[in-house]
Amino acid sequence: MRLWGDYHTHTSYSHGRGTVADMVLAAKERGLKEVAITDHGPGHLFGVGIAHLGVVNRIKEEAKLWEDRTGIRVLVGLEANIIDLDGQLDVDDHTIARLDILLAGLHNWVWPRDWPSLWHFYGKIPLARRLRSLKVRQANTQALVKAVARHPVAFITHPGLHMEIDTHLLARECQKYGTALEINTSHNHTTVEYIKVAASTGVDFVISSDAHDPRRVGDFVKGVELAEGAGLRPERILNTRPSWEGKRP
Ligand SMILES: [Zn+2]
Ligand SMILES: [Zn+2]
Repeated sequence: MRLWGDYHTHTSYSHGRGTVADMVLAAKERGLKEVAITDHGPGHLFGVGIAHLGVVNRIKEEAKLWEDRTGIRVLVGLEANIIDLDGQLDVDDHTIARLDILLAGLHNWVWPRDWPSLWHFYGKIPLARRLRSLKVRQANTQALVKAVARHPVAFITHPGLHMEIDTHLLARECQKYGTALEINTSHNHTTVEYIKVAASTGVDFVISSDAHDPRRVGDFVKGVELAEGAGLRPERILNTRPSWEGKRP
């Protein structure tokens, strides 16, 4: 299975190690045709995300420069944080409209927008969590589904990482809205079972490195193994195509 684009990478504008140039050059070296720079949105605590949305302008300028120098296509996007149970993101519509690709995911350590979300994301002392686990799973899934319904999300990043979800329900709704699900090779949480359950709904997938270091750009090995283990056909994986054909803002 040949994959042509890595659509989830981070630079030092969020908490990655490389510059935009480093990531694009690494993509070129790996023989990719496209790479997306998708730093974390500004809602992350402790300086994990970009400092403010104005940083997108700088990333766009650098992306254009390195696209011209290397000849590979550089998409500028963000990995937005879901900041409330209603699927609100930490990126405004005006900024989204200026992106080439929008990713969204549930993360820990995000500044929630309101009190119910604060309780949901942080009111998880172990006992309360156990008692509420089914509700938590439902609420996580609903937050993702609402984000997909409200915003032009290309794919959901690392579904189920640190945050339990109902895979079948999420996949079914994503399929309806033309949003794909990620097979992330950075975290070890993805299973063949998750892919099988999601694939049964007809949803598309994207395999991505989630590289926070130039050395990992285009590292798809684990994702391809999992996809093959689940019997997923290459046409169901969007980055088997030479350019991004998934959802765009
Ligand atoms: Zn993430
Ligand atoms: Zn990421």
